[in-house]
Amino acid sequence: MKAIRVGNFGGPEELQLAELPALHPAAGQVLVRVRAAGVNPVDTYIRAGTYAQKPPLPYTPGLDGAGEIEALGEGVTGWHEGQRVYVAGSLSGTYAEQAVCNSSQVHALPDGVSFAQGAAIGTPYVTALFALFHRARAKAGETVLIHGASGGVGIAAVQLARAAGLTVFGTAGSGPGHLAIEENGVHRQFDHTKLGYLDEIKAVTDGRGVDVILEMLANVNLGKDLTILAPNGRVAIIGSRGPVEINPRDAMARNADILGVMLFGAAPEVIAEIHDALRTGLESGALRPVVGRELPLADAAEAHRAVMSPGALGKIVLVP
Ligand code: NAP
Repeated sequence: MKAIRVGNFGGPEELQLAELPALHPAAGQVLVRVRAAGVNPVDTYIRAGTYAQKPPLPYTPGLDGAGEIEALGEGVTGWHEGQRVYVAGSLSGTYAEQAVCNSSQVHALPDGVSFAQGAAIGTPYVTALFALFHRARAKAGETVLIHGASGGVGIAAVQLARAAGLTVFGTAGSGPGHLAIEENGVHRQFDHTKLGYLDEIKAVTDGRGVDVILEMLANVNLGKDLTILAPNGRVAIIGSRGPVEINPRDAMARNADILGVMLFGAAPEVIAEIHDALRTGLESGALRPVVGRELPLADAAEAHRAVMSPGALGKIVLVP
């Protein structure tokens, strides 16, 4: 079977297409025929060797994917061969024609959701739901600013927040990004490349500020976020690519919470609960994963360059 392999940590050119022996599931495992693999920023950090957890080399990248069940390991019940599934994590990597998963990493893919959309669920939707409701404790009637709403996690957060009855503000940095977040339900949108956009946000809340901020680029925005929070506001830090200076008094003045978010640190029972909630939203159509770009598996290097470039628009997906 074809798979992308990384032989050394380094640049995108380390992602090489290879022919590997077919996989077989051991007891308790599920073998999935991958029809689409989701590309996440974390895949690039792992490939570069800068992420805290490094896989042994060589390895096949990819956490997310969707496809059909090809075979079940001994003792696996509740699934059948041919069943449509999405996977959130795997044992062997999803940038491949086949992926071996623990049965807890496999989730039913509703009929109306394509494989490409299924590959956009795992990391983005689980992170968005965990950040919004488990970490930031967002409630109906509150206002949330999704600071970086046009990417994989951002669009998921827009849909989840809308479905839960929040007033949703979102930012994007390109024309197509603005269109995407409008289509996905933001009540108001702002341009994070425009000078003075934070003043605009404060102005539309009559100076009160927003209750919750989901932050995709904390090293740029955290200090400023604290100045546009409402009393008792919460900032959930999802993404950060470096250090940042803040004025603690901005948090003190509002009794504000600054919350770290780490998907890999969430308890297994919380993750299971989140997938149950996502299933309901996917079945009802309230959650509609947005695929920005589909590329052949062999173009994994191009996908890694694109996911780290401005102009994100939903999810980049590799098709084996
Ligand atoms: P993505 O699809 O590449 O999206 C990146 C987003 O950041 C886009 O909406 C982009 O908007 C926006 N952005 C660019 N400049 C910005 C600025 N100055 N202010 C605010 N937003 C800005 O990435 P993703 O998959 O959504 O992930 C977002 C971040 O969260 C990444 O850093 C990722 O590593 C991290 N993450 C963390 C966890 C966790 O467990 N903590 C889990 C998943 C992801 P434009 O392209 O429109 O400019």
